[in-house]
Amino acid sequence: MANIVAIVGRPNVGKSTLFNRLVEERDAIIDNQSGVTRDRHYGQAEWVGKPFTVIDTGGYVTGSEDIFEAAIREQVEIAIREAKVILFVVDCQTGLTGLDKDFSRVLRHTDKPVYVVANKADNTEAMYMASEFYELGYDKIYPVSAMSGSGSGELLDDMSQHIDPPEDDEAPEIPRISVVGRPNVGKSSFVNLLLNQERSIVTNIAGTTRDSVDGHYNAFGKEFILTDTAGIRRKAKVSENIEFYSVLRAIKAIENSDVCIVMIDATRGLEAQDLNIIFQAQKHKKGIIIMMNKWDLIEKENNTAKEVEAEIKGKLAPNDYIPIIFTSVLTKQRVFKAIEKAIDVYENRTKKIATSKLNEAMLAEIERTPPPSVKGKYIKIKYVTQLPTYTPTFAFFCNHPKYVKESYVRFLENRLRKHFNFEGVPINVFLRKK
Ligand code: GDP
Ligand code: GDP
Repeated sequence: MANIVAIVGRPNVGKSTLFNRLVEERDAIIDNQSGVTRDRHYGQAEWVGKPFTVIDTGGYVTGSEDIFEAAIREQVEIAIREAKVILFVVDCQTGLTGLDKDFSRVLRHTDKPVYVVANKADNTEAMYMASEFYELGYDKIYPVSAMSGSGSGELLDDMSQHIDPPEDDEAPEIPRISVVGRPNVGKSSFVNLLLNQERSIVTNIAGTTRDSVDGHYNAFGKEFILTDTAGIRRKAKVSENIEFYSVLRAIKAIENSDVCIVMIDATRGLEAQDLNIIFQAQKHKKGIIIMMNKWDLIEKENNTAKEVEAEIKGKLAPNDYIPIIFTSVLTKQRVFKAIEKAIDVYENRTKKIATSKLNEAMLAEIERTPPPSVKGKYIKIKYVTQLPTYTPTFAFFCNHPKYVKESYVRFLENRLRKHFNFEGVPINVFLRKK
C-alpha cells in the first residue's frame, strides 16, 4: 500500500502551511523551474529515512458554497480510503468549530490512524488552548506551529511509525506497467483495447482491490502486469473531487509500478498537472514514457509530431530523456509501439553495464573533458562502476568528490546516456572518495 499522508481540515486552519513544511524544499525547487508550483497539492516528504507522499486535500475544492460541504465530506471519505495516515488539522487560535466537529464525525468511522494537529500553537497561551480539542475524543492532541515548525518533530516521530521503510531494491520478474494521467485522456479505452487483444491472457491478480484492475497480460507477444487507474469517475460523485481522486490513484499506481505510461490528451497538450505526475514518477525513480493520445484529432501538417515533441522536451528540460509516443487508441495507431516502448524502458532500467565497458567509454570522456580544478585542487576521477541497485546508479571514484560541481555531474549523466541507452529511465550519479 502506498505511503500517502493526507492533510484534512476546514479552510484556513493552516493545511497548506503544514504541507509546505513537510514537503522537501528540494521538491519545490524542481517544480519552480517549470512553473508548476501553483497547482501543487502533493509532494514528497521524508522522516527518519522513510519517504512518503503528502497530499493537501483542501486545494481540490474550489467550487461554490452549496457544493462545498458535500465536496469536502466526500473528499475526507476518499482520503480515508486511499491514505495510510490522516492528519486532521484544527486551529488553536479560533478553537473548536462546528465544521471541525463535522470532520471529526466522518473521521470517526475509520480504522486508519488519525492525528489531530492543533495548529497555530505559536506560544504557550495558544498551546493551552489546544486542550480544548480533547473534546473530539482522541487520546492525543499535537500542538504544532506549522509556521515556525515547532511541535512538528513529535508529530512526525509518532506518525512515521505507520510508514513502511523503502522497499527492497530488487527487479521483479515481470515488468509492472501503470497507465496514469488525468481524467478523460483515454486510459480506460487503452486498457480495454489491450483486454480485447486476441492473444492476451488476462488473470486478475488475487489480493488487488476492487477498484484497481491489476492484470497479468500477454499482449503483442509481451508479458507484463498492468496497473489500471481507470474507473476513477465512478468513485467520485462530486465533480470537484475527480481530480483529487485521480491524483491519489496515480500516486499509488506510480509507487506500485516499474514503468509509468503517462497518458496525455494531445488536443490539450502537456499541462501543469501532467508535469506533476511526471515529477512524481521521477522522484520515485520509475521508468517513464509519455503517450500523446488522441493524435487522430490533431490536424497534421508536415512536421506536427516533431514540433510537439520539441515543445514537450523543452518543458521537461533538463530531464529530456523521456520518450514520447503519438498514439490513437481509437484507430489503434501505434498502441503496440507504446507497450513495446514501455518494455524497452523496463529493460533499460534493469540492465547492468560491464565495468570494463563503462570505464572504457567514460574515462575517455573524462580525459577529453576533465573536471575543472577547484581552489587549486586537481581533481582526478579514477574509475566508475554501476552499483548493484535496481535503479541504475553509477559511482565515480575520485580524489576530491566534494569539489566536483553539479554541472559536471550532469555532464557525466549526459555522457552515460549517450553511450548506454537509458531512454526513459531516471539514473543516479554519485561521486565517491577513492
Ligand atoms: P488552509 O486553508 O487550511 O490551507 O490554511 P493556510 O495554510 O492557507 O493558512 C491559513 C492562514 O493561517 C494563513 O494566513 C497562514 O499564514 C496562517 N497560519 C498557518 N499556520 C500558522 C501557524 O502555525 N501560526 C499562525 N499564527 N498562523 C498560521
Ligand atoms: P480515461 O478517463 O482516461 O479512462 O478516458 P476514457 O478511456 O474514458 O476516454 C475518454 C474519452 O476519450 C472517451 O470518449 C473515448 O472514446 C475518447 N478517446 C480515447 N482515446 C481516444 C483516441 O485515441 N482518439 C479519440 N478521438 N478519442 C479517444
